[in-house]
Amino acid sequence: MRVYFWGTRGSLPASITAETVRTKIVSAIKAAQSRSFNNDSEIEDFIRDELPFTVGRTYGSNTPCVEIRNGEEYMICDAGTGLRDLGNHHMKLIEQGLQRRSGSVFNIFVSHFHWDHIQGFPFFTPAYIPGNKVRIYGFHKNLKGFFEKQQNQPYFPVPLASMSADIQFIILKPGKDYEISGFEISGIEQKHPGTSYGFRFQKDGRTVVYSTDAEHKTSYDSTAREENYPFLDFFREADLLIFDAQYDWNEAVLSKDDWGHSSYVAAVELAVKAKVKHLCLFHNEPAYSDERLDVLLEDTRNYLKIYNDHQPHPMKVDLAYDGYEIEV
Ligand SMILES: [Zn+2]
Ligand SMILES: [Zn+2]
Repeated sequence: MRVYFWGTRGSLPASITAETVRTKIVSAIKAAQSRSFNNDSEIEDFIRDELPFTVGRTYGSNTPCVEIRNGEEYMICDAGTGLRDLGNHHMKLIEQGLQRRSGSVFNIFVSHFHWDHIQGFPFFTPAYIPGNKVRIYGFHKNLKGFFEKQQNQPYFPVPLASMSADIQFIILKPGKDYEISGFEISGIEQKHPGTSYGFRFQKDGRTVVYSTDAEHKTSYDSTAREENYPFLDFFREADLLIFDAQYDWNEAVLSKDDWGHSSYVAAVELAVKAKVKHLCLFHNEPAYSDERLDVLLEDTRNYLKIYNDHQPHPMKVDLAYDGYEIEV
């Protein structure tokens, strides 16, 4: 299966400014000064292979939306602003004759209802097309009511009831196993203001865990996790763990304790203990620049080495960006 990140920014969208674009172009021109290129594809190769990520690209702006691709139906985690891009991509596939005009099924798994996780839904074009099926899954009792509220006056001009697709709301129970569109799926309650839930997806012997907006303490904390900490089982041997590491260690411990998010320190400690194969940091802090996110990733990789008695560890570690795709 493949996992595609449509939105990776936490809390609120973080647009790239004209000043940031200018700075990137200056750095790219400097790096290309002694080079000559025969065609566009050589320029593309140079950007991809030789420019630092922070110069040639950006971590992105959209709020959480992650697609798990395996099978005909869409499997989507959260409905942040990234969902709008997913919908637009689907519409483009229809134009190209690669998708049918209607009759598609979108399964959306909602962690919780903070704006950054639902604000893309009113802009999700496929939900306006008769014949499409949108199934929204979540653990909160008032699942439908929360979606209705966000589109009520005066917040949005089009009420949920006016969306023409067949939209269903399905309430799940944590600790129970479900089979949805060929995936085995379970959930776990997470510490977060208003409570959030993580999802574990399994299919064809592969496991992806989506666990965002969750606060975990680190081993430096007096309430350090015990071996029976339920998240160790939930993350156990995941091929990919998508993990809320919004803060660096200083912020998580000193200034943003109890804000409902975690740090890369907690990410590494839990992922190593649970024998995760690939850890992907997620819910990127909107106030962090591309450069600062790069430092956070570097610090995470360094901490993994320190945590492993200064020996290299086989777990892959990276940081999600809008447009990132992982083969699981
Ligand atoms: Zn969030
Ligand atoms: Zn939240």
